[in-house]
Amino acid sequence: RTVYVNGNYLPEEEATVSIFDRGFLFADGVYEVTSILDGKLVDFAGHAARLERSLTELDMQSPVSMEALLDIHRELVARNGIEQGMVYMQITRGSDGDRDFVFPDPETTKPSLVLFTQAKELVDTEAAQKGNRIISVEDIRWGRRDIKTVQLLYPSMAKMMARKAGADDAWLVQDGFVTEGTSNNAYIVKDGKIITRNLSSDILHGITRTAVLKFAREAQMKIEERPFTIDEAKAADEAFTTSASAFVMPVVSVDGATLGDGAPGPVARRLREIYIAEMRKAAI
Ligand code: PLP
Repeated sequence: RTVYVNGNYLPEEEATVSIFDRGFLFADGVYEVTSILDGKLVDFAGHAARLERSLTELDMQSPVSMEALLDIHRELVARNGIEQGMVYMQITRGSDGDRDFVFPDPETTKPSLVLFTQAKELVDTEAAQKGNRIISVEDIRWGRRDIKTVQLLYPSMAKMMARKAGADDAWLVQDGFVTEGTSNNAYIVKDGKIITRNLSSDILHGITRTAVLKFAREAQMKIEERPFTIDEAKAADEAFTTSASAFVMPVVSVDGATLGDGAPGPVARRLREIYIAEMRKAAI
């Protein structure tokens, strides 16, 4: 596989970043995952806009322009011959060669930019056909989940808790209400209404969420943006999650309670179909 690191396209074995990089020592960095359909990037503009916002919130600057980032994405996809899968892009603060809680001087320390691709079937997946089983786990993450940082230890632990419990993934719960999934936004459907948590610093502002809600509105579906409880989720007609790498993913059970007939629901299936069709058309 060819990867990109700080201006160079290299075989993955030859790509290196300093052990003093603050991404490594402090999880001081941000990332984006952009999916690839038919060899093209899905919603790159959305990911670039959120990246810029994440960087601004952390007083960081991209080492290259967003136009250059698009070119790097495309070049990597082409070099690796990816038809379906994703591009992972990460910017960390770099380092001036010491471990220090104080940020290094941005005049003399350049952030590190790393990108790599992953080939993966995204459309015809067993998970989408079967739907995911979810458990609830307490949300003990920090309070700026709207910034897409590489601090992913707790979401990773929550996913492991789900696996150990025989489920596929976890939804995080704070003060009795679902915030989001470990790596996706969470939705329930009740009496034809789609309910998903409103945007705030409690959740990541999903790029897929924005697109899916737009398509749902265009299809005259009713949407309520508000927090919901796990009890509401257990009593829902259906549920689903959204993310760049899994699109719209049906949820078939919550904490052991089967939703509907236990198969992916009609709203989730329809939104998944619309999302994939529309994003295929718009991919660049
Ligand atoms: N919420 C969290 C915590 C995530 O990590 C992600 C994606 O990685 C999402 C939501 C979904 O965001 P997007 O649709 O932009 O992939």
